[in-house]
Amino acid sequence: MTPNYDARIRRAEYLSSTYPFAAEILAFYRRICVIQQKLSKELHDALDRQSRWPAAAGTLREQMDLELVLPFVKQALSDVVPASPEPLALYIKEFLRGSPERWAASLERYVTQANANGTPEDSREELLARILIDPYAELLAAKQSVLPSAAGNLCPLCEGRPVTGVLRIEGDGGKRFLLCAFCGTEWEFRRIYCAFCGESREQSLPVFVAEKFPHIRVEACDTCRHCIRSVDLTKDGHAIPVVDDLAAIPLALWAEEYGYQRIQGNLLGT
Ligand SMILES: [Zn+2]
Ligand SMILES: [Zn+2]
Repeated sequence: MTPNYDARIRRAEYLSSTYPFAAEILAFYRRICVIQQKLSKELHDALDRQSRWPAAAGTLREQMDLELVLPFVKQALSDVVPASPEPLALYIKEFLRGSPERWAASLERYVTQANANGTPEDSREELLARILIDPYAELLAAKQSVLPSAAGNLCPLCEGRPVTGVLRIEGDGGKRFLLCAFCGTEWEFRRIYCAFCGESREQSLPVFVAEKFPHIRVEACDTCRHCIRSVDLTKDGHAIPVVDDLAAIPLALWAEEYGYQRIQGNLLGT
């Protein structure tokens, strides 16, 4: 699937009018989308120009060449500054004063950490890496013509963890997919199954739905105490999982209250 930034931008605008409490987060996300859209085009051109589209060998992370991203770091992150909250803006300015070697090391850390679970050392550093790397990872993922068949809980292309689940209509019913936090690939996954530890007893897998978000389910697991949000496209066919998930701030409060940890946090930690 080719990333469609225009659709994400429109969805963020629509959701900020529906959920005013998420308007600030969504405005920041919208700005990030505009920057990523530009970056995606630049990376696409650079890959074409240098004939650097990798052969589909190794995992998607191994195919990445961070040298390709470095020339765009300064402009892209400078563009994030005006939309950032003050502490983040200061952090970005400080980051940009560093050397390209430091930028590369930072991106490298994010790319190689794969399915590491838990809180990153510095969430701001990870945010910057995600802004810069997401478009590249999605471009490479979109180029893979044949998806390896997968039933595991890690992305078949890059071994990343899922950021959300997605329920889609297929045939007579709904099918569940997991959406990779790193490269945006979706792969099919069993419906009643913990996406972290593989628990399959229904009584250990509580589901929570908030009135405000009838199309998003929090699927929790009492065995490993992880949870994931699944965006139910059978209930709202206009939803875009990465965007709707960002707006669902109250669901984070529910998970926190009951002590469930997200399998993988989203871009802005909502
Ligand atoms: Zn992936
Ligand atoms: Zn579990």
